[in-house]
Formats: sequence, C-alpha cells, structure tokens
Amino acid sequence: MARRPTIARTVSSLRRAMQPYREAGEQIALVPTMGALHRGHLALVAQAQRRARRVVVSIFVNPTQFAPHEDFGSYPRRFETDIAVLTEAKADLVWAPSAAVMYPEGFATRIEPAGAAKAGLEDKFRPHFFGGVATVVAKLFTQVAPALALFGEKDYQQLRVVTQMAADLDLQLKVIGVPTVREKDGLALSSRNVYLSAQERTVAPTLYQTLKASAARIKNGESIARVLDDGRAEIAHAGFALDYLEARHTLTLAPIASRKDGPIRLLVAAKIGATRLIDNIGV
Ligand code: AMP
Repeated sequence: MARRPTIARTVSSLRRAMQPYREAGEQIALVPTMGALHRGHLALVAQAQRRARRVVVSIFVNPTQFAPHEDFGSYPRRFETDIAVLTEAKADLVWAPSAAVMYPEGFATRIEPAGAAKAGLEDKFRPHFFGGVATVVAKLFTQVAPALALFGEKDYQQLRVVTQMAADLDLQLKVIGVPTVREKDGLALSSRNVYLSAQERTVAPTLYQTLKASAARIKNGESIARVLDDGRAEIAHAGFALDYLEARHTLTLAPIASRKDGPIRLLVAAKIGATRLIDNIGV
C-alpha cells in the first residue's frame, strides 16, 4: 500500500515537512490545484514526478479569484477523496492551508499582472481573476520554493500569466505547461464538469470539435476572421452562450489577423446552462 502524503495546514508545518527535502538537496516540484482532482491534475503530478524527486500538491480554493456572483461557495470540495487519489499517485506532500492561513487578518498585498493578463480573454469576463491567481500563486511559490511548478495548458491564459510573473519577479523556478487531458469525446477534463446535466454533457464536446475544425481550416490557409465567425455560429447553434472564440499569438496572446503574425493559439469560453467552460488548442 502506498503511503499517505504528509498534509501541512500551516506555513510553519509546511516548512518543517519540507526541511528534510532541502537538507537532502532534493529537487522539489509544485502542482497548484483547487482540489476535486481528476486525471488532468494527475497528469501534472506524473509530469512533476518525472522531473523532480519530491512533489508537493497544493489544494486551496482561492476566494480572491472568484467574483461574488461566481461559484466559490458551490465549487466541488472533496478533500478526503483527493488525499486517497494523491496517495495512489504517490505525491509526497499536500499543502492545504485554510483561507485564514493564506490571508490572515490584515493581509493587504495584491499582485496586478498585465501583459497576457489583459489580453481581453478571461480577463474581460472575470476582471478580478488574474489578480487573485497571481497573488495566490506568488504566495504558493514563496511558501514552497520549488524548482519547478506545473500548470495545465487547459487554463492557457493563466499559464502565460504565471510564466510571465515568475520571469518578471526573478523567481527561481521553472514554470512548465502540461498538455490538456480530455475525455474520449474531446471534452477537456475540469472539476466544473460535474455541474453539467446529462443533456449539457452531450453538447459540451462541441467546443473542442469547433477548435479542432477551426485549427484545421486555418492551417489550410482559410481566412482567420471567416473561420472564427463560422466557429462562433456553430457554438451558439449548439446551445452555448459564447463569451469568446479568438485566435491569438501563442506567447503574447495578442490578436492575430493572419498566419504570418506568428504561432497561433485558438481559445474559447462559453456557458452551457449555468456552467462556464473554457478550452484552447495550438494551430
Ligand atoms: P484547478 O484545480 O482547476 O485550478 O487546476 C489546477 C491545475 O490543473 C491548473 O494548472 C490547471 O490548468 C490544471 N488542469 C485542470 N484541468 C486540466 C486538464 N484537463 N488537463 C491538464 N491540466 C489541467
């Protein structure tokens, strides 16, 4: 039987638990999550284990990245199941602070990312999101002080924002992106997929299908504007309320009008019923 990972709930117990790793000079990788773990998260853990001797998984549903009307209250929380899953996956340490530990009375600092964080994608619909993410990720990075941190391409803009922040703040760690893990029908795994009704679940793969078809047409030389218009219509026709379907530069997330403008990433966000889904692929 695999050993349960150590669970740290305060900064001092985290430091104590990590002390032996540091003394032994072991490479440490961090996988930040909000829990309700699925195979997507486990792909990050597996990649972390390939690259580092010790893997720390943080589980923290970060209140500051949710707007008041969003799903902070109902976000799935399954701590015991997550620990069982991480035991099986042989993670070494789980960092699970409470909100009071992460943001003690009097906490007054916020990181305000720009660049990719202001690309007009997620930020347009969730204006507080990347400030909340950058602040909590900066804290996780300093608390754990890993050599590597792994993030999913599933949240592509977030991956770009965190990569930029680590560079801008001279943080001594490498941010690594991991390809999106999908269901057989193409739907990107997400903790939020549990919100989908059976009917919504049958429609949900439309996002990935549209991304794939659009990428193929753009690769074939069709006009990006035209392909995106068709894709937007298709997603709306399937029953989604579309937030955006965009073609952006892979690194800067700046708008792109033609294939000559650089490597392209297609990004989409749309609501089906009450559930907001996001996805993206490279062209
Ligand atoms: P979350 O718990 O949703 O905040 O996600 C924690 C980390 O897992 C983030 O870096 C996500 O991008 C990543 N992640 C979530 N879903 C997937 C997926 N389907 N494939 C790969 N990584 C994912």
